[in-house]
Amino acid sequence: MTRKSNPIYVDSHEEALRVVTSFDNFLLDCDGVIWLAETLIEGVAQFLQQLQLHKKHIAFVTNNSSKSRRAYVEKFNSLGIHGVTKEQIYTTGYSAVLELKKMDIESGSKVWVLGDSGIEDELVDEGYIPLGGSNPLLDQSWNPKNPLLKVDPEVRAVVAGSTNDFNFMRIATTLQYLLYDGGKLPFIGTNGDRNYPGPDGLTLPAGGSMVEYMSFCSGRPYIDVGKPSKTFADVIFYDTGFDRAKSIMIGDTLFSDIKFANDAGMGNGHGSMLVLSGVSTVDELKRVISSPTDQALIPQFYTDSLTKFYKLIHSD
Ligand SMILES: [Mg+2]
Repeated sequence: MTRKSNPIYVDSHEEALRVVTSFDNFLLDCDGVIWLAETLIEGVAQFLQQLQLHKKHIAFVTNNSSKSRRAYVEKFNSLGIHGVTKEQIYTTGYSAVLELKKMDIESGSKVWVLGDSGIEDELVDEGYIPLGGSNPLLDQSWNPKNPLLKVDPEVRAVVAGSTNDFNFMRIATTLQYLLYDGGKLPFIGTNGDRNYPGPDGLTLPAGGSMVEYMSFCSGRPYIDVGKPSKTFADVIFYDTGFDRAKSIMIGDTLFSDIKFANDAGMGNGHGSMLVLSGVSTVDELKRVISSPTDQALIPQFYTDSLTKFYKLIHSD
């Protein structure tokens, strides 16, 4: 990290073009950048086409673990963006699976899951056996006789992420695994995000809320495999072969996307652009600039949205 001066507000054709021509690889966050819930942000499809025309490489990097990479391909298709492949998508469910492999937890092993089907699907794709997760026995109200409260000794790790069904039964069963055998089972958390932009202007609790909850009640730290962790960056750059110095991350959240880009050394510390179409606001940006507790939170560029960015590229 060699900077930081004030971020550049991208507000002209020349500036927008400079961003596009300076980088070969574009890593894009999804929620708040590509779409808001089920609504595609205007101009995104054209922007992606433009990147392809310029022979740029694209990867989608999301902390959201609720969907598998295959489900993401379907979501892109349903929103009218065709041609995105599973290999271009990095979810934290997938990142968690890669972490298990790194730990030499062989496929065929059982893994306890707190989270939606995205994590379970990724585990199954790589030959692991997920337990917990979407099991309907966990939808029941509290019952100390629920058989899932008894720990299966064959479970080798715990993966926790966001779920829309965060109830006492899921919390209590997951806690048994986190405390089992003196707390020896690896505890992987998909991310530390507090919230994300939902539909109709709602702000909704993100995976970190649930992962931190489990960390609190078990008294155990977790291995963070989402943005802004270096673990996730290392996986992506290893897998894609992208040159970090020629890569830029575009995201809507200072704490996850911008810090991720800077800590990973993208663009030699200059490869980050904040869009104001999601979580982080311009006031938040001003705050991190005026009293920087962490220089890595300051983006190199910022702009209103990809809608605006695309229009700028096309205006001259
Ligand atoms: Mg986002």
